Amino acid sequence: MKELEQYIRNIPDFPEPGIQFKDITPLIKEPKILKLSVKKLIAPFLNEKLTAIAGMEARGFIFGSLAAWELGISFIPLRKPHKLPYNVEALSYDLEYGSAALEIHVDALGKNDRVLLVDDLIATGGTAAASCKLIEKLGAKIMGCAFIIELDFLNGRDKLSKYHIHSLIHY
Ligand code: AMP
Repeated sequence: MKELEQYIRNIPDFPEPGIQFKDITPLIKEPKILKLSVKKLIAPFLNEKLTAIAGMEARGFIFGSLAAWELGISFIPLRKPHKLPYNVEALSYDLEYGSAALEIHVDALGKNDRVLLVDDLIATGGTAAASCKLIEKLGAKIMGCAFIIELDFLNGRDKLSKYHIHSLIHY
């Protein structure tokens, strides 16, 4: 998707040597491109009777909130530990180096919810897989996962093989 790709800035060696950081700030700075990217993100899921978008801290909040607004449905935040004030479900997962954790409010979703998970980028897939597990722990159904960017060479979608994965830009 060349139209969008030109708005992704590559920052070499950020936040550490060897990482090619994909910076989405040029894309969200451009109103028409931001709108186009949100529309394209949700396009395959318009007939899925979604009830909520779930987005991961922090860049998942940007695209996830806009997607929820566009569809007129709920936005549910998945946050880093100790940020959510009410009772939470929590899950730790492995990163390339070390580990991380995400939390969701226990009453955020239930068995009648049909959820689209949204983030800016899928790399190893660990964050998205943990998010899906948390959402399912609350009894909700994952209808798909949507990303602006997918780093194909990290095979993140292998961790999400039972879900419909949709990415706009592939590297
Ligand atoms: P992963 O769990 O490995 O799929 O990592 C995905 C999460 O880390 C997403 O929330 C991304 O925002 C962030 N991330 C990982 N790698 C990159 C990268 N090369 N550029 C920008 N963000 C990244």
